Amino acid sequence: MRYENTLAAARSLDTQDSLRHFQEQFIFPKHHGENVRYLCGNSLGLQPKSIRQALLNELDQWAEHGVEGHFRGELPWMHYHKFLTAQTARLVGALPHEVVVMNTLTVNLHLMMASFYRPTASRFKIVMEAGAFPSDQYAMESQVRWHGFDPETAIVEVAPRAGEDTLRTEDILQTIEDQGEMVALVMFGGVNYYTGQYYDLAGIAATGHRVGAKVGFDLAHAAGNLPLRLHDWGPDFAVWCSYKYMNSGPGGPSGAFVHERHASSPELPRFAGWWGHDEAVRFKMKKGFQPMFGAEGWQLSNAQIFSFAAHKASLDIFDAAGIENLRAKSLKLTAFLEQVLKEADGGRNLFRIITPGDPAQRGCQLSLLTDDRGKALFDYLAANGVIADWREPNVIRFAPVPLYNSFEDVWQTGHLVASFSLSFSIL
Ligand SMILES: *Cc1c(COP(=O)(O)O)cnc(C)c1O
Repeated sequence: MRYENTLAAARSLDTQDSLRHFQEQFIFPKHHGENVRYLCGNSLGLQPKSIRQALLNELDQWAEHGVEGHFRGELPWMHYHKFLTAQTARLVGALPHEVVVMNTLTVNLHLMMASFYRPTASRFKIVMEAGAFPSDQYAMESQVRWHGFDPETAIVEVAPRAGEDTLRTEDILQTIEDQGEMVALVMFGGVNYYTGQYYDLAGIAATGHRVGAKVGFDLAHAAGNLPLRLHDWGPDFAVWCSYKYMNSGPGGPSGAFVHERHASSPELPRFAGWWGHDEAVRFKMKKGFQPMFGAEGWQLSNAQIFSFAAHKASLDIFDAAGIENLRAKSLKLTAFLEQVLKEADGGRNLFRIITPGDPAQRGCQLSLLTDDRGKALFDYLAANGVIADWREPNVIRFAPVPLYNSFEDVWQTGHLVASFSLSFSIL
């Protein structure tokens, strides 16, 4: 579909947008007194207005009840992680006992690998995407070394073919098949943070399992961005953070998924803490760890109430909007952005969009590979109130998110890129 590339047409799309009112639930930084056009929700989502009151409620609970706050009030702290479960499960397509909110993302990645990366002399490899987020690369390397293996031989990265920017699904699946019985773990991102490519998670999980490997996903850039079906796709585990598309604030808590098939596996090795211990006898304070059924059995510590309260307020917004409705709007916003950017470039080759053109292989984000004019373009946008983000060495990422971005945001961004681009045609 082609969109009419005018301000009037963009505004008319906004008028027809049934999710439009959600924008009013967020706080925008200002640029010369006006809301910025915030296309950076893939890095740190905007602040929902409701979070302030949610945090004040917990401060009041603490002030009024002290330690009794664990048992009193509407949301007693003792069970706080459970108040996030149903919404989290809906958002990632899991059964309630398959998910838990706990810790932070890289911590959870390590906790999950403690259980699901169990290398042996013959089956010790990890298949992952080349160019994964650095924290994931470091986690993989250090896990491999921790088990006494060499990352050079134990980590197999799937890279784009020469002259291409993103991975071909056939190459991912073929690499898993080729490594076969040597693969202990297939570990993939959901959406790559740099290219914006959304991988075939169902296919990766099925192929990983066919060769007898465990399968894990890092969904930092997928959760809250795309509808997910973790239970059906069947990975052994998945982890994500809540401060990108999920708008739960800097350093917000992580979520973890452990597939139902492992729900009742007390023999599965894991790093344990008291909050993962059977809650019926948790406060008997006895020796002998007995894990909770399901993902809760991987918890270490009692809930981080303030960050969980912020996360809950944000999850309420997702529930009200519906992830399928959000995706429907997101497909349009991103397609519109793709079109206005291409038209703004006008054949001057200021940049190339490296995110897949197929909407089924991407979420909100478009990544522009630029040349030595790229940083100037990025700075020009910032000086004109458009917040995108810059990734070294030369990529600009735009993520129009359906909860608080508008078609006008997209059009104005394209308009600014066009003005910048035009300045090169007169040289
Ligand atoms: C954002 C991101 C992280 C950050 O990890 P934290 O532990 O939350 O600091 C890790 N991995 C991926 C894939 C990410 O996108």
